[in-house]
Amino acid sequence: MIVKEKIFRNIGLTCFGKGLRKYCENEIKYVKENNNFPIKYKNVLIIGCSTGYGLSSRVVTSFGMNANTLGVSFEREPSENKLGTLGYYNNKVLEEHAKKDNLYFETINGDAFSNEVKNKVVDIIKRYMGKIDLVIYSIASPKRIDPITKEVYVSSLKPVLKKHSTLDINQKTNKLEIKEFEIATDKEINDTVKVMGGEDFKLWMQILKDNDCLNNNVRALAYSYIGPKLTYPIYRTGTIGIAKQDLENSIKDIDNLLKDIDGKSYVSVNKAIVTRASSVIPGFSLYISLLNKVEKKHGFFEDSIKQMVRLFSAKLPNEITDQNGRLRLDDIEMLPIIQKEVTELWDNLNEGDYFDLSDYNKQYSNIHGFGYDDIDYLKDVDPRDY
Ligand code: NAD
Repeated sequence: MIVKEKIFRNIGLTCFGKGLRKYCENEIKYVKENNNFPIKYKNVLIIGCSTGYGLSSRVVTSFGMNANTLGVSFEREPSENKLGTLGYYNNKVLEEHAKKDNLYFETINGDAFSNEVKNKVVDIIKRYMGKIDLVIYSIASPKRIDPITKEVYVSSLKPVLKKHSTLDINQKTNKLEIKEFEIATDKEINDTVKVMGGEDFKLWMQILKDNDCLNNNVRALAYSYIGPKLTYPIYRTGTIGIAKQDLENSIKDIDNLLKDIDGKSYVSVNKAIVTRASSVIPGFSLYISLLNKVEKKHGFFEDSIKQMVRLFSAKLPNEITDQNGRLRLDDIEMLPIIQKEVTELWDNLNEGDYFDLSDYNKQYSNIHGFGYDDIDYLKDVDPRDY
């Protein structure tokens, strides 16, 4: 089959196995070259391990710390005539390298919100791994099925305080347009909290604790985002921001749960990067483009793997937090000089202007395995190849 890059409504519909190999191998190479992790965790569980921040966390812990890793992700396997989803190939490439390096590496493909997957994880930990030293929660999902009631909750990306309009890019024409968003209903707010809030993270930690799967001194991490005032209406004070606040609030309960084993949990507030999850947030492709441009100008640019290397080499081992106990990997993004320049660029944009999205698009292509100069994308490939 000839695999072409297809994107519909900011969502990549196809991916390219050999390109994903390159993406993963670049991350592994970077970690091996920057292997300076003062605390090396032995047994690590990564929930949401196959793309974005979860993938990079797994690369750091596997190939930077030589940890045994168990990952959970929700990906589709390829068949003879159908592509899989990108995280499937990422998992496979990492597995191949882990085997070469003699590392324990297991992945469960299934719904992390379900009791079945949680029980499977407990079973694998007990049988093959021994107690977990680090739990990473990196799920980004549009929906959640409640494990008990089976009710389906769907998250939304909407403002809460008042109607909001934002500049965004029309991906077909590359022209800027204004998009308007109605205030979320109470149900939409509650549903988003159900999907992206702290409930599932707490359920995970509870089941792991109840089954004696957590080691003394265990660390548990979940990822969040705050961002600048510019994006507050759609993010921090919007439905997703309320859910993220709920996730941040869950840390207190998890800390209580882990007290008797000297465990500690953290939220790490990461910077905005190009991922499948961030690409569907209104205005974010524009914001991230400007942010990256300014960060690159100042020599500060970090992608997913650089963020995760900084998290595990500096922020987490030194437990450097803000006054709310959060690790802040968005410290560079939020520097006044960076935000001042991003805001100035944003303020000079007008509806109808052409916007050069090539840098953002290149990164988006890369995370789907496209856009690598030395790959022949016109060649016939087996969808199972990577
Ligand atoms: P992503 O879309 O790249 O990755 C999401 C992961 O979750 C994938 O591994 C996917 O398989 C997994 N997943 C989704 N639903 C699942 C389910 N039901 N069961 C099992 N696995 C499931 O997302 P990302 O951007 O890396 O986001 C990860 C976390 O980082 C999120 O909490 C997000 O809010 C946070 N974060 C992202 C950014 C950003 O700019 N991308 C910034 C700060 C924080």
